[in-house]
Amino acid sequence: MENLKASVAQRVILESVAILGVEPVKMEQSLGRVLAEDIKANRNLPPYDVSAMDGFAVRSADVANPPAMLELIEEIQAGSLPTKTVRAGQCARIMTGAAVPQGADAVIRVEDTKAIAANSVQFVVSVKPGNFIRPHGEHMHTGDIVLKAGTEITPGVIGVLATVKAAQFNVYRRPRVAILSTGNELEGLNEPVDPNKIPDSNTYAVMAQVQALGIEPVLLGIARDDPAELEQYLQRGLEYDVLLVSGGTSMGEYDYVRPCIEKLGVKMIFWRVLTRPGHPLTFGKTDKTVVFGLPGYPVSSMVSFEEFVLPALRHMMGNRNLHRRTVIARLAHAVKTQPGRTEFIRVLLTHTDAGYTVNTTGTQSSGVLLSMARADGLMVVPADCTGLAEGDHVTVQLLDGSAFQEKVCYKE
Ligand code: AMP
Ligand code: MG
Repeated sequence: MENLKASVAQRVILESVAILGVEPVKMEQSLGRVLAEDIKANRNLPPYDVSAMDGFAVRSADVANPPAMLELIEEIQAGSLPTKTVRAGQCARIMTGAAVPQGADAVIRVEDTKAIAANSVQFVVSVKPGNFIRPHGEHMHTGDIVLKAGTEITPGVIGVLATVKAAQFNVYRRPRVAILSTGNELEGLNEPVDPNKIPDSNTYAVMAQVQALGIEPVLLGIARDDPAELEQYLQRGLEYDVLLVSGGTSMGEYDYVRPCIEKLGVKMIFWRVLTRPGHPLTFGKTDKTVVFGLPGYPVSSMVSFEEFVLPALRHMMGNRNLHRRTVIARLAHAVKTQPGRTEFIRVLLTHTDAGYTVNTTGTQSSGVLLSMARADGLMVVPADCTGLAEGDHVTVQLLDGSAFQEKVCYKE
């Protein structure tokens, strides 16, 4: 297949990659992982009715016609239990989180009292039963499923896991990812500067995109445009769950990636998608490895990663929200576009009273990686668009942050 629309290519990819197996992880190391099992509550919380405020436990009927003077019978601290029953005309001082004593049915804040003496308190408000009481089991009951399998572990989820004393549990495994750059012209990071060469940035930009998903990739290095050498490198890459190769995927004389991976038994599923940048994207798989042939141009490879590799990696790790979150923004200036393919333009978002405003990051040449370095979003321009005017409302995918959404929400 070739010249697929972005959405079709994304669907084909997601249908071709499976969620990986599970592995146990300690709670303290689980941030960013996805739960592979339901987590249940191990107790009722709160275990009994507790006060939500520092104040006084009262019988609401006693303060129905304020002001009301009540006898103070004891003080209940959080962590210790009441020893007395609150009877008509009585109250007890109570701290946030402490158990509400028998007889009392409401809590009145310290702020709503007057003239607190050693053994009496004057109340100046009336309250309904249940006022400032957190009922027992409000948070959870023993045996409740508090977190479902498929939940992404955020700091809030870690708090819940600690609450139910889940010290270790199963999460989905992370894919093992290998990264390979190809091209005779490439100069490795540790090689001396040669004006005739092009520094290899793809290895590291893609590495960082993978790391941002919590995966530590293996860097295979640079393979020259020589079928025998390329095959050796590709062979090593095929030992991983995911192989990301950049360069050599277009139609040039020395673009050997496609024939070589096919020779090594990779089933080609598609090559070329209707996006700009990122047209020469190749996708194939073997029984155990999915292979992405990313375009060589640095911006193209990064954009292709965002649109096609990122959702696949997140799917493998059990995430449900696979796609970058989108926002609608107002264009600050006109933008020339070329119809025919879905365009991903690097942009900067600024927040104004009227919502987000969007500016492009300057030249959109696929070779100018600074356009990507400055960007905090990708503006998605539908394939049928013939140009955008200042003030137009556009869709922008956020590149930063850890917010993802279930569906791709842009018109292509
Ligand atoms: P290719 O698809 O191999 O024809 O590469 C297209 C363009 O991307 C060429 O100008 C390459 O020099 C450049 N390129 C390819 N791989 C890399 C890389 N790893 N880092 C930086 N630029 C690259
Ligand atoms: Mg090349």
